[in-house]
Amino acid sequence: MIKWEANVRKVVPYTPGEQPNDEKMIKLNTNENPYPPAPGVERVLRGMDADALRLYPDPTAGELVRTIAEAYGLKEEQVFVGVGSDDVLAMSFLTFFNSGKPILFPDITYSFYDVWAELFRIPYKRPALDEHFCIRKEDYFAENGGIVFPNPNAPTGLEMAQSDIEEIVRRNQDVIVMIDEAYVDFGAQSAIPLIEKYDNLLVVQTFSKSRSMAGMRIGFACGNPALIKYLNDAKYSFNSYTMNRTAISAGVEAVRDREYFEDTCRKIVETREWAKQELETLGFTLMDSKANFIFASHPSCPAAELYQALRDAHIYVRYFPKERIDNYLRVTIGTKQEMQVFIDFVKAYLSGRQPG
Ligand SMILES: *Cc1c(COP(=O)(O)O)cnc(C)c1O
Repeated sequence: MIKWEANVRKVVPYTPGEQPNDEKMIKLNTNENPYPPAPGVERVLRGMDADALRLYPDPTAGELVRTIAEAYGLKEEQVFVGVGSDDVLAMSFLTFFNSGKPILFPDITYSFYDVWAELFRIPYKRPALDEHFCIRKEDYFAENGGIVFPNPNAPTGLEMAQSDIEEIVRRNQDVIVMIDEAYVDFGAQSAIPLIEKYDNLLVVQTFSKSRSMAGMRIGFACGNPALIKYLNDAKYSFNSYTMNRTAISAGVEAVRDREYFEDTCRKIVETREWAKQELETLGFTLMDSKANFIFASHPSCPAAELYQALRDAHIYVRYFPKERIDNYLRVTIGTKQEMQVFIDFVKAYLSGRQPG
């Protein structure tokens, strides 16, 4: 080994879902929104003045912070924004998980958590989900260095009851509890109101799913002003200008158009519930997803096989070759038409497999 290599911070990176270059594809693999962002976003982009890019953006991203705070009935001091919730979560791990004790997150969950823990040398433990793939709240009552999990969880889509979340937060007031609400807008209950009661709670959300802006990279965290101040101190010690001018202006428009946002979320929920029924009719076992995806398994057709058959037909879904979930497919909810093509293909494939 070359000598300097001994001193390199070596990490095994997170593997994001594929972004295939396939014109004919139906893309149901990375939980993007099938609908465009709010119309005001396009208006802002068309009106962008390239000359303004000579100047640095507002380091506080004040306009975006204020708009988010207003929309959620919070004070500006309770909101932090970053370059997607991945940036917000990574900054939060760095800022809050420094006790040297293991942090806790489920064995089956968003697969970026262990990557950040490894990157920042944070010890961690992964309590197993129960046999119904639910988070067991009691696993989070033992001494720990902090807690993070998504609600609804990924890739199961299962929601944890607000009272159970509150119990976890209440019993862990010596550490920071982060609830990653990437999918909360598709029918689950947000823990944001609890930040008024618990100063150890950080709630993280993203514009990537429910606001159709994965390509713009905007995420935010809501919490007690002291938490937000610590997060900003870390951010200003790393990169003062995380949010660019375009993202700030476009993000503001997306939040202002509440009607469009609610409409889009409602359409996705309707399509999800319809797709659940169709898949159940085809014999699939499903979890009761409250997210913009379905996690499904078929008793006679292996998930890996169906994944490949779909792929060959230019329909991309996500498959995790991981213990306990390696017979499941995660299917993002697309438009009704896209989901119809998906269902029709699966129906034809399954009947072709079982003669008679
Ligand atoms: C998509 C997702 C994120 C990251 O979203 P970005 O805002 O695009 O970085 C974080 N957590 C979970 C559970 C997600 O599914």
